[in-house]
Amino acid sequence: TCQKEEEQKLKKSLSRIKHKLVILSGKGGVGKSTIAVNLAVGLALKGKKVGLLDVDVHGPSIPRLLSLKGNPPHIEENYIDPVPWSKNLFVMSLGFLIPSEKEAVIWRGPIKMGLIKQFLRDVAWGDLDFLVVDCPPGTGDEPLSVMQLLGTSAYGIVVTTPQQVAIDDVRRSITFCKQLGNPVLGIVENMSGFICPKCKERTDIFLSGGGQQLAQEFNVPFLAKIPLDPEIVRAGEEGYVYVKTHPDSEPAKEINKIVAEA
Ligand code: ADP
Repeated sequence: TCQKEEEQKLKKSLSRIKHKLVILSGKGGVGKSTIAVNLAVGLALKGKKVGLLDVDVHGPSIPRLLSLKGNPPHIEENYIDPVPWSKNLFVMSLGFLIPSEKEAVIWRGPIKMGLIKQFLRDVAWGDLDFLVVDCPPGTGDEPLSVMQLLGTSAYGIVVTTPQQVAIDDVRRSITFCKQLGNPVLGIVENMSGFICPKCKERTDIFLSGGGQQLAQEFNVPFLAKIPLDPEIVRAGEEGYVYVKTHPDSEPAKEINKIVAEA
């Protein structure tokens, strides 16, 4: 039947992807998309073939972060070509397909599930070393669909800020992975301290060290502690990628720890 064929197609697509990394966070605004983008670019700079999938249907931000807005993907009858950022990084986002960001996307669970399935099954990702998936915050329909479709070989990476660490939402993201049987690659503490551009001394604006404690409590690795850097904000606004333009900075070194772990 048709459904069986589609399932075969999805299975075949996924079998060509070596490693699947799903970026999660308890709440919005913690830098999840920023980390997804910098991780994907970091892997690509290491020569890996990478796919970056944005499944945030309400606020897709990846096209803007990568300066790819206005680059519609090539759509054929049976497949969609992802948008190339470089010769080894390919991107897919609903942001490429909806006419304007202002368009409110009010879709319910089953439609979102269908869309995510299409992104995994009908996008011609080809052979990938890594697929990085940027989920919307929380543990709702989209992350659930992503994990269910990718299966238990997909790793979760949980992003938090120091002041969020104690909050239930972050814990729920870790528990979510564990309950679904997906391993947690680790916790990333973002916006963790500020390095003075003048004297280079680090100041912990918010309490620091919570991410490490949380990792210990849940017995998962602590991956990186990325400081606040105004250049990261500028990179996001202007659509260039921080790890590429500031490879020797402290935040880039921390991001590369995640790359090395992946
Ligand atoms: P999320 O995907 O969790 O909603 P974003 O990646 O969109 O969060 O980041 C939210 C804002 O914080 C953006 O303006 C981004 O540039 C900024 N940001 C993220 N990480 C850092 C950091 N380490 N230092 C400074 N600004 C950051």
